[in-house]
Amino acid sequence: MNLKYPVYAPYLNGREKALVMDCLDSTWISSKGKYVGQFEESFGSWIGARHAVTVSNGTVALHVALAALGIGPGDEVLVPTLTYIASANAVKYTGADVVFVDSERAYWQIDIEDAERKITSRTKAIMVVHLYGQATEMDAVMALAKKHSLYVIEDCAEAIGTRFDGTHVGTIGDVGCFSFFGNKTITTGEGGMVVTNNAELDRKIRHLRSQGVSSEREYWHDAIAFNYRMTNIAAAIGCAQMESIDDLIAKKQQIAEWYREGLAGLPVQVHAVNPRTRHSYWMVSILVEEAADRDALRAALLHDGIETRPLFYPVHQMSMYAAPGQHFPVADEIASRGINLPSYPALTRDDITFICERVREFLSGQHAKAESLAA
Ligand SMILES: *Cc1c(COP(=O)(O)O)cnc(C)c1O
Repeated sequence: MNLKYPVYAPYLNGREKALVMDCLDSTWISSKGKYVGQFEESFGSWIGARHAVTVSNGTVALHVALAALGIGPGDEVLVPTLTYIASANAVKYTGADVVFVDSERAYWQIDIEDAERKITSRTKAIMVVHLYGQATEMDAVMALAKKHSLYVIEDCAEAIGTRFDGTHVGTIGDVGCFSFFGNKTITTGEGGMVVTNNAELDRKIRHLRSQGVSSEREYWHDAIAFNYRMTNIAAAIGCAQMESIDDLIAKKQQIAEWYREGLAGLPVQVHAVNPRTRHSYWMVSILVEEAADRDALRAALLHDGIETRPLFYPVHQMSMYAAPGQHFPVADEIASRGINLPSYPALTRDDITFICERVREFLSGQHAKAESLAA
């Protein structure tokens, strides 16, 4: 099959190649070199965080953030079940327990009321995931955290450019974690960033990222820590991506608008926008009316060269996390009806018109089928 429209493709049309060549020419290819600091500086100031620390991917960003907060065995961390599996895995790496929380129906973010119901004497932190580029209502999260003395970790892997009430996500809780995987809004191949406004936390994260090297004594280690460093090559790509970041986000917002226009009047629900969010549209997402139609629509689109992906399977459904008596009806329902459409920045209006026409054709076929069954 000829895949005409992948779900994602990175946009590398700036100085990425030139800066990578500079690393190779200068031999600064490992995790020392000027681009690491430059990328931290430019990303941190772009989102408005006092401190930003590069790491090797978004999963370890979450792990090192939790570790720096001192979360470990015996602790519980609240995590929405409707997320990418890395959010939950990072908690497990620390030895703490994951406590899943359902989602709210309107915007698909963590359900704060359900989160509060799940708090016990062992709950140490809440991890919110700003899903698909929309923000969780952080004022409610911060109020809950204050009431129960919880740390707040923001998983911002899908939320580069996302703001809540005007503030960039990741800078509202104690710590924010970003991913620069190839399909994220900006990419370094593999990469991540941890941001915080807390100087002490920044120091701990840097210490844990780099083998627990002592700040007082050379070649001495005073903690069992990690090698989670980013290479200068990856950071160089990140620096080049930062030169296009505003442009990339504007393109993605335009793409979402074209989809909204193209799908108007069809029996699909485009991910609603919380008016308090500046949505960065990592992936444009729709819900079909009937879960039974979801995979058929995906197959029909693929037949026309259009790749899609299902929304995340809620993590509690996977065998490693499955436990009796767990019910997350909203997350299960959203996930079963949801599809991410091609969302990469190079898509044109004509591309989106074509994709929407294919969706329209499929749905009118379904409609005709339903009518004939009813007759
Ligand atoms: C992509 C993603 C991650 C993990 O990032 P990697 O860089 O792939 O390790 C974590 N959480 C969420 C919600 C993600 O979408």
